Amino acid sequence: MIRVTLPDNSVRELPEGASAADLAADIGPGLAKAAIGAFAANGDGEERPLDLATPLPGDCNLRLVTNRDDEALTILRHSTAHVMAEAICNIWPETKLVYGPPVEGGFYYDIDLDYKLTPDDFPKIEAEMQRIVKEARPFTRYEMDRAAGMEKLKKEGNPYKLENAERAKGDVLSFYVTGAEPGAFWEDLCMGTHIPDTGRIGAFKILSVSGAFLHGDAKKKQLQRVNGTAFFNKKDLKAYLTQLEEARKRDHRKIGTELGLFALDPLVGTGLVLWKPRGAIVRNLLENYLREELVRHGYLPVYSPNIGRLDLYRTSGHFPYYQDSQYPPMYDRPGAAALQAIVDAYEAGEDVTAASLNEALEPFTGCCGVQIDASALNAEKIEAAKEILRDEEGYLLKPMNCPHHIRIYASEPRSYRDLPVRLAEFGTVYRYEQSGEVSGLTRVRGFTQDDAHIFCTPEQLQGELASCVQLTRYVLDGLGLKDYRVRIGLHDPDDGKYIDNPQAWAESEAAIREAVKLSGMTATEEKGEAAFYGPKIDFVVKDCIGRDWQLGTVQADYIQPINFDLSYTGSDNKAHRPVMVHRAPFGSMERFIGILIEHFEGNFPLWLAPVQVLVATISEKSVDYGREVAEQLRKIGMRVELDDSAERIGPKKHYGRSLKVPYIVVVGEKEAESKAVNVDPRDRDGSKTIPLTELIEMLKQENDPHALRRQNENERAGASS
Ligand SMILES: [Zn+2]
Ligand SMILES: [Zn+2]
Repeated sequence: MIRVTLPDNSVRELPEGASAADLAADIGPGLAKAAIGAFAANGDGEERPLDLATPLPGDCNLRLVTNRDDEALTILRHSTAHVMAEAICNIWPETKLVYGPPVEGGFYYDIDLDYKLTPDDFPKIEAEMQRIVKEARPFTRYEMDRAAGMEKLKKEGNPYKLENAERAKGDVLSFYVTGAEPGAFWEDLCMGTHIPDTGRIGAFKILSVSGAFLHGDAKKKQLQRVNGTAFFNKKDLKAYLTQLEEARKRDHRKIGTELGLFALDPLVGTGLVLWKPRGAIVRNLLENYLREELVRHGYLPVYSPNIGRLDLYRTSGHFPYYQDSQYPPMYDRPGAAALQAIVDAYEAGEDVTAASLNEALEPFTGCCGVQIDASALNAEKIEAAKEILRDEEGYLLKPMNCPHHIRIYASEPRSYRDLPVRLAEFGTVYRYEQSGEVSGLTRVRGFTQDDAHIFCTPEQLQGELASCVQLTRYVLDGLGLKDYRVRIGLHDPDDGKYIDNPQAWAESEAAIREAVKLSGMTATEEKGEAAFYGPKIDFVVKDCIGRDWQLGTVQADYIQPINFDLSYTGSDNKAHRPVMVHRAPFGSMERFIGILIEHFEGNFPLWLAPVQVLVATISEKSVDYGREVAEQLRKIGMRVELDDSAERIGPKKHYGRSLKVPYIVVVGEKEAESKAVNVDPRDRDGSKTIPLTELIEMLKQENDPHALRRQNENERAGASS
């Protein structure tokens, strides 16, 4: 008999050779029908996917997956990738399949096919897929020992599958037949897992085809990536397609250009954002909204330069380890960059010849008191080279603000009475994202973090974390982003990447949990998702079309205080180590505003709109009054644009609507006579004529950065009382 332990710790006994499907049937017919796969753990405790039909791996912990579980869609989508691959192979038998994983929102299959697929081919492929789905064929797994499996793949002559098989671990290779038995149906090399049969695919769609390089390497062959998605029912697919359509309409790159918020200019550089005046207004307002609250939370402003010495980043650990994601360092002298490259190569274990090392050292021997024997061992020369590079004034564009803030903390002696020290800066940092990854405002190479670093005693940590959580909510609530949850990233004691300090982990993780609990928010915990230096909280925000975004983050850090040997004098007069907190409620201003543009579809609330009122005159006769109205509105702090040109009123209003201006105010002779205005609001139907004084009062009331936040807080209070 096999003993199977279920998630609720109950145990069931089944005969040898029983499958997860047998187990489901043993529990009940409802579950037998709903189950689509399983995860089993035995021996080492690691969960592995398991098809329903595969015999259980002996005594084990088992978790059945039904279509209500998060993993179910992933299993369904990967299975649909098999079906799509078969359909493409049926239509174009010369297709060579490469790799077909599930991804966020769907799946893709990379294929090598000379015929270039276009969207016109999708209906044909989908019809063939539908045929396969209708046949409700089972996914059948069979295994071969490695040698025999490789032999079979060689015979089939698909070099990509051979390569995949070489990379696969274990002594056996597994294949999946879309049908009852091997040989009679289409099959694919795969580790699994899959849904029981193709009939479970309720709805699917091919979304696009794009170019993709083998292993993402531009030097390798260009393949075609066919992207699709699948769901258990048509309703979910329809909702998803609507969401994609909404997302396209809201694309911040399109709206940002139309509203004149920002520009991306290849002459300036990939991923480097130019904020135009209207975008700069939005950013300024957001920064001020946060700045005011920082004062109330006891933060102190600081400024730090955009570059720093390499030694600073050597101390923090950002150089040379994260060199690949940074702009190359700047050196005072030519030759240093080449020498650094040789040192990096040597340290990475690459082949470095004595000749190339001597050549790289050449510009430095003799000139600065360095004498290196050309016949010395490479290891000695590398040490000398590192010494030279340490003396060399090399600089890095700032990839992180933390090291600079740490040096501000270290610039004077600190006593326990000074703590917590909270240093805040809207600090611009630079990262070298791959050009293929750079996109709009959301993936850029230069961005500004609303950064702050808190230096506190371990006892103060929990209070500081709670205050950071509160601050993040202040920001999200203020922008009407009211649907959010938090994810707590905990360490995994079995993972060697985490610092070995059980007490610090225990204390800081308890502090983070408590801080979140006090806030009353729902939270999920994920083991192994902490930063290597401490646990963290991430805010996951749902925008108005249901997409999840990871925004604000709060992290505890025990490592940087050690790297920089930070201390404070305790009440016992001894030196103690402070704990650091990194936090950024917006994250990056660029990315946040990109998301905000999509969330509002460019219809910023009044307080955030770059142009709040457009005053448009009907004719020459109302120009003077138009100017007076604009003047009066500016006096109460409104951002007003005046259109007193000779253009007709229709096009003037059209221009205002295209800018998504919250209020278009029309003035003609009649209005001038009675000191009135005709107001056409963006968010309400129809226009009406009211006295100018009434408009002024209304705008004064409505132009409130805290209106949305109060509304959210009241709703929450109402819901909980
Ligand atoms: Zn598969
Ligand atoms: Zn930091």
